[in-house]
Amino acid sequence: MVAPCLSKIIISSESASSSIARKVTKAWPDVDTIIVDDPASYDRKFDMDDDPVLSGKRTLVVAPNKGRFIRKCPGTMGLVCCNYYVIDLAEGCSIDCSYCILQGYLNDRRIRLATNIDDLEKEIDETLADTGRPIRLGTGELSDSLMFDNELGLANILIDMIRKRPQATLELKTKTDNIEKILDIDPAPNVVIGWSLNTPEVIARDERGSASLDKRLSAAKKVVDAGWKVAFHFDPLVIHPGWQDGYRKVVDGLFAVAGPDKIAWISMGALRFHPSLKPIIKSRFERSDLLKSQFSLCPDNKMRYVKPLRKELLAHLKSLILSRAPTVALYFCMEGIEIWSDVLGGSPASLGMLDEVFG
Ligand code: SF4
Repeated sequence: MVAPCLSKIIISSESASSSIARKVTKAWPDVDTIIVDDPASYDRKFDMDDDPVLSGKRTLVVAPNKGRFIRKCPGTMGLVCCNYYVIDLAEGCSIDCSYCILQGYLNDRRIRLATNIDDLEKEIDETLADTGRPIRLGTGELSDSLMFDNELGLANILIDMIRKRPQATLELKTKTDNIEKILDIDPAPNVVIGWSLNTPEVIARDERGSASLDKRLSAAKKVVDAGWKVAFHFDPLVIHPGWQDGYRKVVDGLFAVAGPDKIAWISMGALRFHPSLKPIIKSRFERSDLLKSQFSLCPDNKMRYVKPLRKELLAHLKSLILSRAPTVALYFCMEGIEIWSDVLGGSPASLGMLDEVFG
């Protein structure tokens, strides 16, 4: 179990009686908790700490979301988009990954959890009506979908919303093994539990506070055995000493816990990061191998491995995966059409096996 390490909880007075605020205070009775009128401006002194990113991860703000919950994944110009809708129920994350864009991206470094989850149900219906076709939604964009799930059980509320709407598919994406509460309910055919996988070396150096590979795979086995569909994400793929054999072992482990018929999809994405993240990675993750490779700046202003390395990395994973599961839905995250064509042999439109993913 991955237990978040909170040191402060700030609850907005307008949501103090909400069911989510009550769950939070019950889950962490010993954490210093305060109710204030304006959490956005309250106690931001930690911005001056030696490691404000880490301090932010230890502070939970519980307040209503005044904006929208659902947004279309913006994709990136020139890259192939997988038509994904992001649900921002939480922003900020208790896990600490070296490559995480949130370290330099969010204005407010604290973890923010929305209390007005009922408004989300309306938005799901509006989004379904607007698009007029099946949609894929996920919560793991600005946080880990299950980071607080053993304590709060919020995934089950979401799952029940989606279960009633067969046109929607929800993916809960995690680096934890926090599946206790999910195992209490019946599987929903349109909900997929997804794990980000990496080698034990990358997990130990670059994904602090996450579950080990063995724990992630063992959690995946439990949900598969309980009848859920699962997904796996090799993202970010990182070049590090012994990566070829390392990823082979991860793929072996994956197929030991989930047969191809239980896997909704597998994605792969090579490491990419905004140049402004480089000094942050250097100072916060001294043991990381992340920056020890050749990168180039791409048109979307992200650093990526130079193309020959990227192709080698993605082609290696592709052959490991397709040799075990030739018809599994396999796609790339944040890659351009050239990489799709060279490594996978076509665009999503030309690869019929991806209809389930790309709609
Ligand atoms: S799990 Fe995801 S959101 Fe959380 S720190 Fe890692 S990359 Fe960021």
